[in-house]
Amino acid sequence: MVENAVLGGRKVSIHCAGGVIADIRDGGAELPGVQRGAVDRLDGRGCLVAPGLINAHTHAAMTLFRGRADDLPLMEWLERHIWPYEAVMTEDEVYAGARLGILEMVRNGTTFINDMYWCPRGTARAAVEMGIRACIGEVFIDGPADANRRRRLEIERLLDELEGCSSRVSLSVDPHAVYTVSEDSLRWAGELAAGRGLILHIHVAETEVEGQRTARRSTVARRSRISVGSACSTNAPWRQIRCGCPTTMSPCWVRGGWYACTTR
Ligand SMILES: [Zn+2]
Repeated sequence: MVENAVLGGRKVSIHCAGGVIADIRDGGAELPGVQRGAVDRLDGRGCLVAPGLINAHTHAAMTLFRGRADDLPLMEWLERHIWPYEAVMTEDEVYAGARLGILEMVRNGTTFINDMYWCPRGTARAAVEMGIRACIGEVFIDGPADANRRRRLEIERLLDELEGCSSRVSLSVDPHAVYTVSEDSLRWAGELAAGRGLILHIHVAETEVEGQRTARRSTVARRSRISVGSACSTNAPWRQIRCGCPTTMSPCWVRGGWYACTTR
């Protein structure tokens, strides 16, 4: 129950049950049949009562890297300062970083995160313990063919393991980007997601550099890759999107799915 909320200039109490708003009553009125002391109470004075926010693209555990060379261009930051550390991160470290990231997001009103990262068992453990709703997947980048085959098996095992771990946690298939994952792997990812009824989560053009790398593909290749990257939505219309600077960035063609745009 949220007490002392203001709606339309009137002080009201908001009663929730089973995860939904059950009633809104004037003043601090109780619901009939509910005894005082039998419900959790929140004081709404000075607060905004609103639906929970959705963070459509997170790497929650990366809160551990805050302040590490974060004034550099994306690729230099990633390749020289982040990926070497991520290569030796343990599941417990991902868990600790995810707890911190989730705590900060909850404090800002976020109740759902769509998280792509390494060691997602750690992120899932943090999400389940902290009560946030989350869609979680293990990011992958292509390497040698043998390594790719092992990674695919690991990801399928991970999905089997985490499936049903919590009613608040759903799963996704997470190729990193069209310029770090081959067309063959994107096709595998699209088929895996479609076959399991999962979303496919991918970077398309988070910054100008990513957009330029994507745009180096031929138009045909670019179209086929991002079509697979949007979970084989072959009936959806093509759309042209530009992220970053709209006047200088090369456009990407995508179809199907939802797009989370970065802010500048
Ligand atoms: Zn990202």
